[in-house]
Amino acid sequence: MHSRFLTGSTISDQSGRQSGRIISIGECMVELAPRADGTYTMGFAGDTLNTAWYLRRALPAAWSVDYMTCIGTDAVSDRMLAFLGDAGIGTTHIARLPDRTVGLYLIELAHAERSFLYWRGQSAARLLARDPARLAQALTGADVAYLSGITLAILEDDRPTLLTSLTELRARGGMVVFDPNLRSRLWPNATIMCDAIMQAATQADIALPSHEDEAAAFGDASPEATARRYQQAGVPLVVVKNGPGSIITLANGTLAHHDVAPVQTVVDTTAAGDSFNAGFLAAHLTGNPLTQSVAAGAAIAARVISSHGALIAQH
Ligand code: AMP
Repeated sequence: MHSRFLTGSTISDQSGRQSGRIISIGECMVELAPRADGTYTMGFAGDTLNTAWYLRRALPAAWSVDYMTCIGTDAVSDRMLAFLGDAGIGTTHIARLPDRTVGLYLIELAHAERSFLYWRGQSAARLLARDPARLAQALTGADVAYLSGITLAILEDDRPTLLTSLTELRARGGMVVFDPNLRSRLWPNATIMCDAIMQAATQADIALPSHEDEAAAFGDASPEATARRYQQAGVPLVVVKNGPGSIITLANGTLAHHDVAPVQTVVDTTAAGDSFNAGFLAAHLTGNPLTQSVAAGAAIAARVISSHGALIAQH
């Protein structure tokens, strides 16, 4: 049931799918980015939103891309909703909570180094899985659900509710795609983070970890070790990103290395992994072989890291 899109050589509906519905679940935040004159530009970003944004550009129009989250009822939340709609991302499953608002982060530039300050402790998105009926409704009819470790980290009490809804989606033949996107500061401690990530992995059809993060959290000695850990958790297809290093795929037990073309000048690595995921998934879901799908992901990521910012408009 879950092997429809797995590898180029084993896709059972040979051409992939020309149409389908993908829903990305997580938190979109207000971004305040510094300008040279000391003022700030307001934008919107967040890991799962970045992937949805690039997916919308990379997938054929017959595929729908929806975002699922919670936002407030205020004017800034209105602007976020309009931004998503203008990008072609479906907003039907975005709930509006009157007593909360969207999270915010500010990019701080010190000696050309970027650091991030966050105000997201009470963000509306933390309640995105509070209502099981709403969750079930959002996932009904979805072919693919995409989420990240950040989605899990912000949920506090509702992780089991989200995982149950993913289990139900898979039981209906849907696919779950998971980027562990490990951010230790969002979790109470490393043990809780690692346990929650590996529990979610048991519900994933595709895992898209980044080796550097995984090595720091799990002590993996190599990208291959990262791939095998997710395989042992039951993930049929694991794609391990490794910065400029080779990407490792482990598909139904078959390990492969895919070289990444060097990028001349890396300007800003924000959203490298998020955009890779979108390029990879769009190619994979529409029936391309694994090697081409990895190349498509790396090509988008290469363009994204050659420019400033998370969302690069020429895609
Ligand atoms: P990461 O999550 O940092 O491992 O990066 C995600 C993807 O972005 C990688 O798999 C590469 O395709 C691309 N990427 C990141 N850093 C570089 C780099 N320095 N040179 C070329 N590609 C990169």
